[in-house]
Amino acid sequence: MRITGLKAYQVDLPLTEGRYSWSNENTVTVFDSTVVAVETDAGITGYGECCPLGPAYLPAYAAGVRAGLAELAPKLLGIDPTHLGVLNRRMEAALRGHPYVKAPIDMACWDILGKVAQLPVYALLGGAEQEAVQLYRAISQDTPEAMARQVGRYRAEGYTKFQLKVGGDPDVDIARIRACRQVLQPTDTLVADANTGWTLHEAARVVAAVREVDVYIEQPCRTFPECLAVRRRTALPFVLDEIITDMDALLRCLADGAMDIVNLKISKVGGLTKAKQMRDLCVATGIGMTIEDTWGGDIVTAAIAHLARSTPGEFLFSTTDFNSYGPVEIATGAPKRVGGRLQAPDRPGLGVEPRLEVLGKPVLVIGRS
Ligand code: MG
Repeated sequence: MRITGLKAYQVDLPLTEGRYSWSNENTVTVFDSTVVAVETDAGITGYGECCPLGPAYLPAYAAGVRAGLAELAPKLLGIDPTHLGVLNRRMEAALRGHPYVKAPIDMACWDILGKVAQLPVYALLGGAEQEAVQLYRAISQDTPEAMARQVGRYRAEGYTKFQLKVGGDPDVDIARIRACRQVLQPTDTLVADANTGWTLHEAARVVAAVREVDVYIEQPCRTFPECLAVRRRTALPFVLDEIITDMDALLRCLADGAMDIVNLKISKVGGLTKAKQMRDLCVATGIGMTIEDTWGGDIVTAAIAHLARSTPGEFLFSTTDFNSYGPVEIATGAPKRVGGRLQAPDRPGLGVEPRLEVLGKPVLVIGRS
């Protein structure tokens, strides 16, 4: 089987809540997502998706996905898409860095492999370790009272895990954490994600102030040495996200005992192939994971669900259903949240079918179509 072409579609994903806000006054009102179709000479097409969290979260931006695809895709024509190791090495050789550009291609090729093998992607990623997996709900940055109201609202919908967007004024963040913990039961999980937003001394103040609160601290500061310094002065469970960009970063953080949990995002690390490698290393070394992506619609949500379902339950801290944050459905067959849980489909591949009437005309066509 050979790759004969690649198409990319641009799609806007508005938010039911109207906006999503996090540290450093970052806000997105409409997410800009890219859907990729990888076409083959066997008549099988695979689908992937990449949606950066705006241009200021990671070194990634929406138009950059499309520019990168235009650069990279012509160099992948003729490769067997089911040979994922070969594909990934070819992508590395053809374009240095830019993992978020490679992620939707890799995702689409896993979809093709599943369709060829007549197996769901979760079976290819290791098998059904779990059935439905538990979701967290991200709580957009707002006043402590408004965030506590949102936690209560989503708890009533069945969520038991919540990730607060903090990383703002440390005094307000301390109030946010306390207000939200108050509306939860002891069995519920609360994470305070600063998204690199605190300086070292601000982080030191927050972790000292909430030391008696049952809360996880996620990515307090921008750099590895800062995060490690915060980690070493708090007993609270600790999550790293933005600085875990690849296997090298994960190995360094493991060697230093820098975290209890890794936030593993598919497009941040370059696709399902690399996410699986890092997932397997975390399992082997006893590190829990939040498995998710930077954002996305139904296709990203399906890919997350397959990786999460194939991850042993004791190591899956939480995961996300981005397709429940907005009204636009870009594919049928994607898993939908039931209560606070999500289950990857049993159909071959990712199990999704893009809605071409929603995606419109492709914005990029490479190869034979
Ligand atoms: Mg995070």
